[in-house]
Amino acid sequence: MSKIQAIRGMNDILPVETPVWQYLEQVITDVVQSYGYREIRFPILEQTQLFKRSIGEVTDIVEKEMYSFTDRNGDDLSLRPEGTACCVRAADQHGLLYNQQQRLWYRGPMFRHERPQKGRYRQFHQVGVESFGMAGPDIDAEIILVSVALWKALGLTEHVRLEINNIGTAADRRAYGAALTAYLQQHEQALDEDSRRRLGSNPLRVLDSKVPETQALLVNAPRLSDFVSAETVTHYQRLKELLIANGVSFTENERLVRGLDYYNNLVFEWITSALGSQGTVCAGGRYDALVEQLGGRGTPAVGLAFGMERLVLLMQEAGLVPGHIHRTVDVYVLYSDDAVQAAALLVAERLRSDICGLRVLSHCGGGKFANQLKKAFASGAALAVIVDPAAQTPAGLDGVDVSLRLRALVDDATAESINYSALIERLQAGV
Ligand code: ATP
Ligand code: MG
Repeated sequence: MSKIQAIRGMNDILPVETPVWQYLEQVITDVVQSYGYREIRFPILEQTQLFKRSIGEVTDIVEKEMYSFTDRNGDDLSLRPEGTACCVRAADQHGLLYNQQQRLWYRGPMFRHERPQKGRYRQFHQVGVESFGMAGPDIDAEIILVSVALWKALGLTEHVRLEINNIGTAADRRAYGAALTAYLQQHEQALDEDSRRRLGSNPLRVLDSKVPETQALLVNAPRLSDFVSAETVTHYQRLKELLIANGVSFTENERLVRGLDYYNNLVFEWITSALGSQGTVCAGGRYDALVEQLGGRGTPAVGLAFGMERLVLLMQEAGLVPGHIHRTVDVYVLYSDDAVQAAALLVAERLRSDICGLRVLSHCGGGKFANQLKKAFASGAALAVIVDPAAQTPAGLDGVDVSLRLRALVDDATAESINYSALIERLQAGV
């Protein structure tokens, strides 16, 4: 029978890779919690309407990337393509937003039917950081500082750069969109096909085009910065001052507009040159109208999301994955005689309960001593504890008649007799 394969663009994360993920998840958790953000968890499936109303009907995500279906009750549902809309839905539904300040974060899989390639998958993972109820540029700066802190904690500071832009209010963008459309219509023949299609529905997305002819046309196009209203400029100016005061370098990119409709004022991206065209590792911005758009009361908000797969790739590419994380076992317990098989399991159990966090692998499956030792070496453990038959109980190990030997798992090491108390002391001092 033919074997069933995973769905294209949906990756298995194998045990050799999970330590990298766990490491990143731990560092991210520590960083976001150090800023007082609290985790929120929400379902993977939501009403399709949630994404249509937030991300926007004429965005790539909603038009062609969502996994949507009708369930057995006839409800239109979608696998979440991103987390912000879900976070707003959940927080508002449970009364966390009105008249309050909230700092929330989430993580988990997202789904988009895109063309799979390096750094772009159909199931991918994001960590999102969102704040609600604060309208000033200080919280924008804080959100960006969370990402700065993460780069620092991971050693990535030199590998990423920050681009920011002020995209004004929705009304500013409508006025600009009309001016841009009028200009581009005069040059319609020179536009690539995608851009021509966007011209009718979402003209600002033309700014994102990677086609050189289109980029050339844009040089003389109207500029968004001439259309953004005065309050957004003041807000943006102050944000830039706060970033500078905190030593955060950035460049301003007038063409940065983002592919989701809900942003206003600030948008930003962290970009690396190490991952080709999938170079955006983190993106975010302010979205003051979204809560109201989804039926809640007007609540200012700003947030960001990291792409986990791209972070993993970047850490690997930059050679920044710490070697020690691949070690998943500290001690391997084996035995020289089948008569002490049960005692060996007991010794391993005792070690686990006596030393919190110690990772102990019990030899299972029997076999000759030499083969057990081979497995001990292959496990990556630093030390082997060898259990031998004996007529008395070693000090510290009540009621188990064995003797113990300790062996470093390096070539040419010898096994030395050790009593249980001394073994514990030795392991507590560091493997
Ligand atoms: P891109 O321009 O690369 O398509 P995006 O603007 O669609 O990204 P967002 O929706 O803002 O991305 O998501 C935030 C982050 O999630 C991105 O910066 C990226 O790191 C990651 N991401 C988005 N889509 C994918 C995907 N299909 N596969 C892997 N990571 C992704
Ligand atoms: Mg995209």
